Amino acid sequence: MKKRFLLLSLLSLAGVKSVGATAIESIFPEAFKPRITIQEKDIYGVQGYQVQEFIGSEVNRNHWDSRGDQTIQSLVMHYTVCDYPTTMRLFTANIPDGRVSAHYVITEKEEVNAVKGGVVTQLVPEEKRAWHAGASYWRGIQNLNASSIGVENVNKGFIESGGKRQWFAFDPDQIATLGQLSAGIVEKYNISPENVVGHADIVPDKKSDPGILFPWEELYTQYGVGAWLTEKERSNPTFISEGYLPKEPLPQGISEAFFLNALRAYGYQCPESAYITPAHEPVIKAFKAHFSHNQKPDHYTATLDKTAMVWAWGLSAKYPQEEK
Ligand SMILES: [Zn+2]
Repeated sequence: MKKRFLLLSLLSLAGVKSVGATAIESIFPEAFKPRITIQEKDIYGVQGYQVQEFIGSEVNRNHWDSRGDQTIQSLVMHYTVCDYPTTMRLFTANIPDGRVSAHYVITEKEEVNAVKGGVVTQLVPEEKRAWHAGASYWRGIQNLNASSIGVENVNKGFIESGGKRQWFAFDPDQIATLGQLSAGIVEKYNISPENVVGHADIVPDKKSDPGILFPWEELYTQYGVGAWLTEKERSNPTFISEGYLPKEPLPQGISEAFFLNALRAYGYQCPESAYITPAHEPVIKAFKAHFSHNQKPDHYTATLDKTAMVWAWGLSAKYPQEEK
């Protein structure tokens, strides 16, 4: 008990306060055995925390690397699947191989760990490369770790029952922090709206995060973050055809070839084909989860409908790729 008291006293001297209702030590006990140090930090106007750099032989526990000659061009959204203490342990574990990290972790409310929602912790400085995206592709760029900032949102993801996915809603306090943080990052690095992406957008075969309940529309309307079609644009194709001059008109009916071309034009890695094949299913699900069927978990399928057609066509016209 004495030791604990001493530790808390030292922490309060260092200006380290609690994450939520309890001292950070009690929800993150591992941190204090191999001397992880966390300090308060103002992060784009949000009061958060920063993990300090490990030193000596433990330098790799920060799980970061040089960006080389790459500049920051994209912002990648994730969910963790695991809780905050587990995430922090994973992201600072002493594992030379298989490192995993993100620039920021944002909490959701966790009764069991007494963690408050919307608390942001920075693990990797923005000028460093974090290990969050893996082998990935977006708009002609591969391996986005070098050129992106990664944000992990604590969220359980989904459970599968009866062949259906049940997704977990995001904590409103978490989204309020995420919105402010993302708006700050996008402004600072002049990140284009279409380069604010989900992990599933850039690795559709292997990843499902941040999932179909991630509030993309709220980020767009409340914080000016990311790409979206407004109500006006998606309900009346004339606004698209007159406003953004698409290369081709929207087909009257469903066209699989047109849709797949539009996904590719927008930025997805999508095999060229006249028809949808099983190989296209992950990318179609990623697209529907992010855009046309966001917040509609019953539509997390590879089925093509008119709504998805309008979105793919509209987005590729509103956010065209530069000719390479
Ligand atoms: Zn992810």
